[in-house]
Amino acid sequence: MAVSYKNLGLVNTNEMFKKAMEGKYAVPAYNFNNMEQIQAIILACLETQSPVILQVSSGARKYADQTLLSYMGQGAVEMMKTHAKEKGLKEIPIALHLDHGDTFELCKSCVDTGFSSIMIDGSHLPYDENVELTKKVVEYCHQFDVTVEGELGVLAGIEDEVVAEKSTYTKPEEVVDFVKRTGVDSLAISIGTSHGANKFKPEQCTKNAEGVYIPPELRFDILAEIEKQIPGFFIVLHGSSSVPMEAVNIINENGGALKDSVGIPEEQLRKATQYNVCKVNIDSDGRLWMTAAIRKHFNDKPGDFDPRKYLGPARVALIEMYKHKNENVLGSAGNV
Ligand SMILES: [Zn+2]
Repeated sequence: MAVSYKNLGLVNTNEMFKKAMEGKYAVPAYNFNNMEQIQAIILACLETQSPVILQVSSGARKYADQTLLSYMGQGAVEMMKTHAKEKGLKEIPIALHLDHGDTFELCKSCVDTGFSSIMIDGSHLPYDENVELTKKVVEYCHQFDVTVEGELGVLAGIEDEVVAEKSTYTKPEEVVDFVKRTGVDSLAISIGTSHGANKFKPEQCTKNAEGVYIPPELRFDILAEIEKQIPGFFIVLHGSSSVPMEAVNIINENGGALKDSVGIPEEQLRKATQYNVCKVNIDSDGRLWMTAAIRKHFNDKPGDFDPRKYLGPARVALIEMYKHKNENVLGSAGNV
């Protein structure tokens, strides 16, 4: 029996994106794979009164099991309601989103198990095949009021050798046709963000006085041109972690060996929310802060072996980070 997200207390992304567009902020999309992450996301977003998109990647599905993850999404809604009541806060809208779906079958199975939003990523395919696959997913999802994110342009990944080469940016001249033919609700674009904690090579960056790598600016010219082509359309940025040096330093001071980590400066993300960017994906920053807290804990207290002793501080670090993003970077705080 198929499960509808509507019975789980989840919402699709339509209403939250409309409000974000009007309010000139972006809704955070945070990835989760385990209990501490989902607790931290919900508590931080409830406390800052921010809408939120819980994201499940294919890696998360392999690691934690798709069925369990959709029940965790349902559990997150119930937990949010209980905490809202206890603290006298307004309930927040929560969407459960498939990140980087790559086949129709996968997207369908997520819809059927209670996801409220789907990304179909056909960006690696030839253009017409991307259109065809995306359209098929949209037709299925829209029957159930599930929103769909498509992608045009390819983001460089952590394994890729070539980063931010011109050919991988979204071509503004394609977006009108793509949106019209597929019927997608939102569009992920490539303007210089990238996946992972090593978004740029040192030689692509300049160094500031503190020795921190400053990457090349995002291509706001392309973003502006896309906005001109499809005015009022919801734009999504993937790979938008900032890779804070503070977290990287804690990791390295406590036995870690992260090298040349570079992210997207927060000012640039703040600037992007002033365009039509309504959803910003952040994953690596959560991984970094979690690792930093756990490494520090083990260094300070090598005798601890109860997972709650080190996952607890990791959860606290995540809550702080998510609150900071909502309040100071994406501007989503106070918008429910
Ligand atoms: Zn992505």
